[in-house]
Amino acid sequence: MIGILGAGQLGRMLALAGIPLGEQFRFLDPDTNAPARQLGTQIQGAFDDDDSLQRLAAGCSVVTYEFENVPVAAAERLAATIPVYPPPAALRASQDRVDEKTFLNKQGIRTAPWVAVNSQADLVAAIAAIGAPGVLKTRRMGYDGKGQMVLRSVTEVEQAWKKLGGQPLIYEGFVSFDRELSCIGVRDRMGNVACYPLIENWHHEGILRLSIAPGPNWNDHLQQQAVANAKQVMATLDYVGVLTIEYFQCGKELVCNEMAPRVHNSGHWSIEGAVCSQFENHVRAITGLPLGATTVNGAAAMLNLIGDFPDLRRVLNTPGVHLHHYGKEPRPGRKIGHLTVVAPDHATLTARITELRQVTGLDKLPSWPM
Ligand code: AMP
Repeated sequence: MIGILGAGQLGRMLALAGIPLGEQFRFLDPDTNAPARQLGTQIQGAFDDDDSLQRLAAGCSVVTYEFENVPVAAAERLAATIPVYPPPAALRASQDRVDEKTFLNKQGIRTAPWVAVNSQADLVAAIAAIGAPGVLKTRRMGYDGKGQMVLRSVTEVEQAWKKLGGQPLIYEGFVSFDRELSCIGVRDRMGNVACYPLIENWHHEGILRLSIAPGPNWNDHLQQQAVANAKQVMATLDYVGVLTIEYFQCGKELVCNEMAPRVHNSGHWSIEGAVCSQFENHVRAITGLPLGATTVNGAAAMLNLIGDFPDLRRVLNTPGVHLHHYGKEPRPGRKIGHLTVVAPDHATLTARITELRQVTGLDKLPSWPM
């Protein structure tokens, strides 16, 4: 039995990958309608409730988590009696953007220049030190572009403070990147590491819309940098499981944006697009099984379904398309599923995605990377 903190779509897809390996799942989540509830038993409770945590762990061989805002203290308490993978130290390093960037820089990994901001005067000083434009972000709990604002000049300080002030913040230099990439790696209990090819990601309004693997114009030099960084971070944390590191590509350099100690939205294509998916590899890693191959079968992409479902008959009429429904009620801005598109090569993949854009309404977005 595997215990998972969180029963969202990531927990659901972990269970869908782990059940064929003979595993059973128990989830802890306060949500009454959690997407993973059909795939195991769910304990409905808070992540910091000791009794719920004990009930989650009872009889499990290992506990993992599907989101990085699990209270570190709760993960540490569990780790005293049962293996918790990835280790709680990975949560500690990734929950707060200042801790995260401090950790990454210490590993020799380049990030945007940054300064911690606790007052309006700090923000003025940060802009003087780093320059504008820059991005002001909350240190904790930001996701999908929430809790952040781009500042074009020091004249916008008051407006930014009104929006985000009163909580610990970070100001980062604006990176004018060529594209966004992510590296998904996995480390087993013996210390073996495997990484998927770099994935190109395209966001709109802060939300991931499209991932392509391998990223077009895939590049050995960038892949080597990304793999070296992943190995370094995972060795330092004595990591077990899947780790995602997100980057901006600036010419031949990778500038790290953030890391997530978990399976990631930009790796969902791997369910049908890779020899062994990120979900199966995470389950294999944490249960002490050998890792599966991270090779892509041809080329693959992932399109997020956000807000509402398109005409699924038309979607599934496109060759190479697979639907993943998360069992959630449609609601504006909500990730309710995704499509994987597989193809023998990038040209065929592009043609299939172009066809899908019209069917899914994504052709209405103002820009598109391909
Ligand atoms: P985050 O919440 O840090 O993942 O940021 C969400 C998105 O905002 C990223 O995927 C980028 O598209 C953009 N972004 C974040 N930080 C920066 C930055 N320092 N420079 C340029 N764009 C950024």
